[in-house]
Amino acid sequence: MQFIISKLLSNYKNIAYGISSRGLKYTSTFQNNLSYSVGDDPEMVSENRNIFYSSLGIQKSQVVSLKQIHSSNSLIVENPGEHYNADAIITNKSNLFLQVSIADCVPILIYDPISQVVAAVHAGWRGTNSEIAFKSVIKIIEVYNIKSKNLIAFIGPSAGECCYEVGEETWKKFNTKYLKKHSFDLKKRFLNVKKANYDQLLKAGMLKNNIEVSQYCTICDNQFHSFRRDGKNSGRMFAVIGIRV
Ligand SMILES: [Zn+2]
Repeated sequence: MQFIISKLLSNYKNIAYGISSRGLKYTSTFQNNLSYSVGDDPEMVSENRNIFYSSLGIQKSQVVSLKQIHSSNSLIVENPGEHYNADAIITNKSNLFLQVSIADCVPILIYDPISQVVAAVHAGWRGTNSEIAFKSVIKIIEVYNIKSKNLIAFIGPSAGECCYEVGEETWKKFNTKYLKKHSFDLKKRFLNVKKANYDQLLKAGMLKNNIEVSQYCTICDNQFHSFRRDGKNSGRMFAVIGIRV
């Protein structure tokens, strides 16, 4: 299984992090799919998950997952297992690995090397529009009494401005600086969700040098699962981060 590397996060050996992909060479649309709810063979999904977790050196029983709802809610968690009604998870407990599921939405992995706090954020256009990245960072700095300038973030592969076409009802909710005109359809725009999330991290006080943005677009780059591209035949990828002991 191929992982997407963050130069920034890879500097820290006391965390485990990983964002999966479909793979550069794929033979089926569901290759390396990690979701049980997209119509893939459950045995294959279990095997893929085992490979994913063991590659990161973590146990399934240490994972915190989410029933994602495209909200701006974040949760402070202290125990593994599935949590509900949120799209961001935060912890300062070690050996707890925070997981979000993605296929075009923006995964954001956050780490504070000074205070040992981690967060995983899932930001689709709705979450981005309701400022989940900004709110999550504010929650981290308030709850743990830390400085946002110490935080490191990796904004992972997601729908890119090159492909992420949105209709009028959606683009009207965003600042024009995140929109690019469509060449022939005046009612549509291309939305830059990565840039919008990047700006939210800056607004929350993070430093430019501490934010890495993946240039990969999940829609036009076939090594990723993409809901926009493949619809009901699309798999899901995981983005995970946690502190080792
Ligand atoms: Zn693209």
